[in-house]
Order: sequence, then structure tokens, then C-alpha cells
Amino acid sequence: MARQIRKVAVIGSGVMGSGIAAHLANVGIPSLLLDIVPNQLTEEEQRKGLTLEDRAVRNRLATLALKKLQKQKPAPLSRKSHVHYIQPGNLEDDVEKLAEVDWIIEVVVENLDVKKQLFEKVDQYRKQGTLVSSNTSGISIEAMAKGRSEDFQAHFLGTHFFNPPRYLKLLEIIPTKKTKPEVTAFMKAFAEDVLGKGVVEGKDTPNFIANRIGTYGLLVTVQKMLEGGYSVGEVDSVTGPLIGRPKSATFRTLDVVGLDTFLHVAKNVHDVVDGEEKDVFDPPVFMKKMAENGWIGSKSGQGFFLKQ
Ligand code: NAD
Repeated sequence: MARQIRKVAVIGSGVMGSGIAAHLANVGIPSLLLDIVPNQLTEEEQRKGLTLEDRAVRNRLATLALKKLQKQKPAPLSRKSHVHYIQPGNLEDDVEKLAEVDWIIEVVVENLDVKKQLFEKVDQYRKQGTLVSSNTSGISIEAMAKGRSEDFQAHFLGTHFFNPPRYLKLLEIIPTKKTKPEVTAFMKAFAEDVLGKGVVEGKDTPNFIANRIGTYGLLVTVQKMLEGGYSVGEVDSVTGPLIGRPKSATFRTLDVVGLDTFLHVAKNVHDVVDGEEKDVFDPPVFMKKMAENGWIGSKSGQGFFLKQ
């Protein structure tokens, strides 16, 4: 029977996971949006008399992500009512539901160990033949699949969406040597015909293509800014609307991406290159300090241009 995507599980409800679930909803595909169970109550939850066992608390992260989707600008959902295509939950309670879906997309933090642990669980609960992909910005796809079943590896590949998923057309697809050609061909056709993406097939090298080039360019820009004594505002002016880009390609982009995620992505390459390039991929101290302070952009409400 021809492969079909009738329902998807998106694991990780942060900046990208919620945006991908919204993009699926826009084309009429239902999804489960799953995150982890919080281990502390908020003040409001305490006031309401809730406990850590309550479903509302256990599903808090994904539910909150859904609420944000309806308020964000530019709008991730083409219609607010499309939010009903997305069912929030948490992986711990809903793990058996992974057997109901045709495609599982991993969109958790950019950390190999966390992703590997997650895929061990996914391998246990998915039904045979289910597609599994990672939205990693640049961690080795092969390394993530190491130790998983033959069937998992044959149906596993990288599907790297760009931020925001509704608006950026590019999708990098990264198969490994073990990905079945049928799976790569299906994903490419599905992404183009159903999701409306422009697909580029990338090699499984650190940060693939777009981030390998893009992260380098951004970090060199910042290096030159510091050497020349320019300001964040000046750099954004010359890399933004004044030269025909709708938004700045530098600091406003970092606010949208999340500085924490960007630092992980820079590290993907830093760990494997030598010489001058290693210096470039070691971001300046001010960026690391900002991340330590939690000034990581839109998701924390404080970044280069955002103020809490
Ligand atoms: P984020 O920090 O906004 O969200 C990550 C989410 O994953 C959080 O909600 C967290 O609670 C959840 N999570 C962590 N561990 C989990 C687990 N074991 N099970 C379930 N959920 C878990 O991060 P993001 O920016 O959405 O990035 C997610 C992935 O997408 C990363 O691999 C990143 O490199 C990649 N990516 C990010 C961007 C971007 O612009 N931010 C663009 C393309 C790709």
C-alpha cells in the first residue's frame, strides 16, 4: 500500500516543534505535540490547588506552546481554528500513542545524548515502517540512529525545517547510508507537494549545508563588528531592510532562533574543525554571558532587541 501521512507526532513543543505542528495543521494534518513533564508547580498552579499528578500540569509545556501559537506574529497558523488539529500531551503518559502515527519528528534540544535517549524510546513504541526524523540543526544523523533497530534506521533521516516553519520554504533532507531510498524519495515528494517546501538534499556532515554556511557567516560578521567597534544596531541596519532583506540576517535573527540553540549549533562545528575555523566557531564571550543570563531572545522575552 502506498505510504500516507495521516497523523504525526512532534516531540518537543519549543520554538520549532510548535511551529512545525502549526505548519502541519495549516495543510490539514493532525499531530500530537509532546513535551516533557514539568517537575515543579508554578505559583498559579499552586494557587489553583493542582498537583504534579494533574494532567493540566503534566501537559503544561505543550499546552502553553499551543496558546503562544495563537498569539505569535507573524502568525504560525494560517487560521486560528487550525489549532484544533494539534493535540498537546507529554511523552511520558502518551508514549503508546506513537504507534498511532505515520511520522515522528524529533524537535528537542540540540544535544546528542538527549536525542539518542529519546530515539531509544521511540524505537520501542513506533510501529514498524513508521517514518522518524530529526529537526537537528547539524548533529550527525547517523550518530543519532546508532544502536537502533534495522527497521528504525531504514526509516530514519534528517528533516531540517527553518524558522519560522510556515514562512521559510527551505527544508533540508539528510538521509544516511541506511535510509531506504524509498523513504528519502517519499519525504522529498511529500515535503514539496503537501508541505509546500523547497527541498535540498544535504550530506550528513556537521550542520549540513545551510547552517554550515550561515553560522560561519554570522559568527564572522560578529567578529568583524567587534574588531571594527560597530554596534548591534549598526550591523543589523547593514544586514537588514536597508539592503533588501525583510528582517536583519544577524541579531534580530538570533532573537528569533534562540541564542541557546545558536550556541549549540556553533558547537556542532567547533568540536570537529581545527585552526582558524575553530576560532570562528567559538562565539564571543558576550554571547555566552547573555545565554547564561537567560537573555536568549523571543522565547525568554529578553534578547538583543527584546526587553522584558
Ligand atoms: P527549544 O529550546 O525552543 O525547544 C525544545 C523543547 O524540547 C522544549 O520545549 C523542551 O522542554 C523539549 N524537550 C527537551 N527534552 C525533551 C525530551 N526528552 N522529550 C520531549 N521534549 C523535550 O528549541 P528549538 O529552537 O525548538 O530547537 C529544537 C531543535 O530544532 C534543535 O535540535 C534545534 O537545533 C533545531 N532547530 C532550531 C531552529 C531555531 O531557529 N530555533 C531552527 C532549525 C532547527
